[in-house]
Amino acid sequence: MRIAMIGTGYVGLVSGACFADFGHRVTCVDKDADKIDGLNAGKMPIWEPGLEALVKSNAERGRLTFTTDLPSAVENAEAVFIAVGTPARRGDGHADLTFVFDAVREVASVIKPGTVVVTKSTVPVGTGDRIEDILREEGVAEVSVASNPEFLREGAAIADFKHPDRIVVGAEDDRAQEALKEIYRPLFLNRAPILFTGRRTAELTKYAANAFLAVKISFINEIADLCEAVDADVQDVARGIGLDNRIGPKFLHAGPGYGGSCFPKDTLALLQTADKVGVDQRIVRTTVEVNDDRKASMVERVERALGGDLKGKRVGVLGLAFKPNTDDMREAPSIPLINLLVERGAEVSAFDPVAREQAEKVLTGIEFAEDAYAAAAGADALVIVTEWDEFRALDLDKIAASLRGRSLVDLRNVYDRNEVEEAGLAYFGIGRGRIEESQPA
Ligand code: NAD
Repeated sequence: MRIAMIGTGYVGLVSGACFADFGHRVTCVDKDADKIDGLNAGKMPIWEPGLEALVKSNAERGRLTFTTDLPSAVENAEAVFIAVGTPARRGDGHADLTFVFDAVREVASVIKPGTVVVTKSTVPVGTGDRIEDILREEGVAEVSVASNPEFLREGAAIADFKHPDRIVVGAEDDRAQEALKEIYRPLFLNRAPILFTGRRTAELTKYAANAFLAVKISFINEIADLCEAVDADVQDVARGIGLDNRIGPKFLHAGPGYGGSCFPKDTLALLQTADKVGVDQRIVRTTVEVNDDRKASMVERVERALGGDLKGKRVGVLGLAFKPNTDDMREAPSIPLINLLVERGAEVSAFDPVAREQAEKVLTGIEFAEDAYAAAAGADALVIVTEWDEFRALDLDKIAASLRGRSLVDLRNVYDRNEVEEAGLAYFGIGRGRIEESQPA
């Protein structure tokens, strides 16, 4: 099929490249000319494993093209996907749909009858109805509007797109349903579960999924706090509950709180939707509060590890991206932690394997180190914030030799207390017994 993908960000670019790989002819559109020029020159705007090779091979076959010219992409398309950003609106946290509606208006001026418009962006319930209204207002006839929320995870986006746990399609007519069946046919043949629902249900399903995952994370984080008070190990608790099929092991890793481009804004947007219709969502509301407090409280863990005062202390930070295998810094837990460290008088030297360029745009007043050992050099404490694989196998003796102080603060529970103590360091994990008791060997 001929597909126009409006918005060539994390979701649009990955989806466009994967659809092209399925054999469709995809034109990815973005209004950011630098991004499109870069892509036409083979330069990826984001760091995502496997993406460059996938984009190149499909571009070489002529199935994947990039343009800023929306009309030319849309007028030839049988399906138009909207994959633009839907950030949280400042002040109230409502999903800002400006990009979506602007894109729809642009699409309306050129779209042909019989085309299907599909929202891949995460949008509140009723957005599909509003899109239909806009198209009608602009005089567009015989165009179907469907919802196809995206569940890929950054860092594993291509694998997730090609082997999804499920595909959700919200459609109100056969034409939209048939078009999406055809687009996802290769996955259909592989027996990926495809769930056809009403459009509003599909829109809500995406928010419910992200909210539930956020609840799981906040739940285990609170259990981790309890573990510290009663001398229990949250890693074992998580395993002990996660082996229960009704609970499952994923998203039960205690840490510094969730971040990223989706959970924070999607939980807020769900609360806005609920408020609007007068249905309280107490669990999600509390989850948001728990997570905000958690991110802000990480600085206290570092402070405690350094004897209660950060003034004049030097802190090495490992990992800046909101999670490994991405350079995405949106809502990363590293941001409030580093800002508070600096505010309380600490010097920070930080290292991330790929996110430095993005981090430099949002973090000021810190040094960026060339590797983990350089970040540790002369520091009073080393803090692991993002669990990149390369931080899982550090030479702890070398780290101990480069540090000025003795503290390893492991906000991702990557290390065992014993191995850290054997290297002569004090270990401060999350939810792993009483923190104060760690003693270097
Ligand atoms: P992004 O900010 O990386 O990309 C959005 C792109 O859309 C930008 O490049 C922007 O220039 C472009 N754009 C905006 N208006 C445009 C217009 N009128 N015409 C052409 N291009 C336009 O965003 P993202 O992370 O890809 O997220 C997109 C949507 O997908 C959001 O609703 C998000 O919630 C959802 N989502 C994201 C993820 C994720 O992991 N990032 C996962 C699932 C769903």
